[in-house]
Amino acid sequence: MQKNGLMFQAFEWDLPADAQHWERLRGAATELQEYGVDSLWLPPAHKGVSREDVGYGSYDLYDMGEFDQKNTVATKYGTVEELIALLETLHERGMRAYADIVLNHKGGADETEIFRATPVNPEDRLSPVGESRDIEGWTKFTFPGRQDKYSAFQWHFSHFTGVDFDQRTGEKGIFRIEGEDAGFSEKVDGEKGNFDYLMNADIDVDNPDVRAELFRWGKWFFDRFPFDGMRMDAIKHIDSQFMHDFVQEMQDQVDRDLYVVGEYWTAGLETLQHYLDQVSYQLDLFDVPLHFKFFQAGQDKENFDLRTLFDDTLVRSKPQQAVTFVDNHDSQPGQALESFVDDGFKIQAYALILLRQDGYPCLFYGDYYGIGGGPGQEEALNPLLLARKYRAYGEEIDNFFDPNCIAFARLGDADHPHSGLVCLVSNGYAPEGYHCRMELGPDWAGQIFYDVTGRQEGTLTLDDQGGAEFYVGQNSLAVWVEQVE
Ligand code: CA
Repeated sequence: MQKNGLMFQAFEWDLPADAQHWERLRGAATELQEYGVDSLWLPPAHKGVSREDVGYGSYDLYDMGEFDQKNTVATKYGTVEELIALLETLHERGMRAYADIVLNHKGGADETEIFRATPVNPEDRLSPVGESRDIEGWTKFTFPGRQDKYSAFQWHFSHFTGVDFDQRTGEKGIFRIEGEDAGFSEKVDGEKGNFDYLMNADIDVDNPDVRAELFRWGKWFFDRFPFDGMRMDAIKHIDSQFMHDFVQEMQDQVDRDLYVVGEYWTAGLETLQHYLDQVSYQLDLFDVPLHFKFFQAGQDKENFDLRTLFDDTLVRSKPQQAVTFVDNHDSQPGQALESFVDDGFKIQAYALILLRQDGYPCLFYGDYYGIGGGPGQEEALNPLLLARKYRAYGEEIDNFFDPNCIAFARLGDADHPHSGLVCLVSNGYAPEGYHCRMELGPDWAGQIFYDVTGRQEGTLTLDDQGGAEFYVGQNSLAVWVEQVE
């Protein structure tokens, strides 16, 4: 990974279902690169349950907008040809693309089947709430529009652990499918007793035929589409041994190194650390605990002690494994995991993931370009993106000096002329703002610094020790950098 890499989550939930998104991203690539983005996490590229599906309602993993299925050839984002063109454009610019891989469930089955299942308590999936009985579930996937091209594998109820609907009675719930070697995986998150089941028809990754088919699919996918890595969806709900083996198999079978990050949605740091052990550190994880710290800081405003911001976060405990982010398509307003960081703390949060030494930051499309056609914060974020690209290098010195103000310096390095900065984040209302002395070293004596975000007025001339009283206003942000003519 190149120094100061920056991932861009290239979608939000409420994009128009106009099949133009691969083309939109192709048009945006040059500008994103100018601001330091070097990799794009693309939304799921395969066919979902409908043209409107964001991609997490997986129907056919072999259809990237190529076959007339679910009343559409294109996916929400475009056709297979447009996807390939986007990947080519990104690679021409030396940018990388990560695929969003959904292996937990399938939706939009072609036919129902009758099979035995036991209804379980949605809040405690280990507890039955009724007798085992025959139900009619949507579990038969034959992909008539694809006609066995690329794979003749068809899915049946024995390939799944559970469904959420009995067609015969119209009953909704969680039905655990019965049969030889059936049942939920044990190596999944323990929330709700056993969190194997999330939605739709839950894939039984312990089934040897399923396992072989998914391995075969992964090899096919990376051979056909030159993605550089993958973002694994919903791994909290997938057997961790399977995930370990799948990633290992891809690294062994694919002719290039793949970058891998997993989405494990929990604020619990210990759970994430345990998961990393289980998958032998083969993948990075999104720093969900840090996201919740940002969320809390946005909610509590001046009552949040900024000095605790990085306590119990992945970026502090396992910095090499942490993908830091502020928000995403699930935390945005109206979505399943809504916990959107308040606008009053959004830019501060971005400064903290973009300008510090640790973590691989991810910029969210919805924050940058806006959600559902609403305004984005591109103008406010661009100075921070450029500060990451040109200034945020070298040793880091922290000065978390006040519950309402934290500061850190980057001392710059020889490879990046004029690099180095002093960042202050405040969330309080001290009448004079917040001041702290920071020293960058005698080499900096006489340099003039200004706030590249434009929030603080004036300049500072560094003294013999390369020091100054840096400052930030009330509930604000400052990123002091060397003035360059
Ligand atoms: Ca599952």
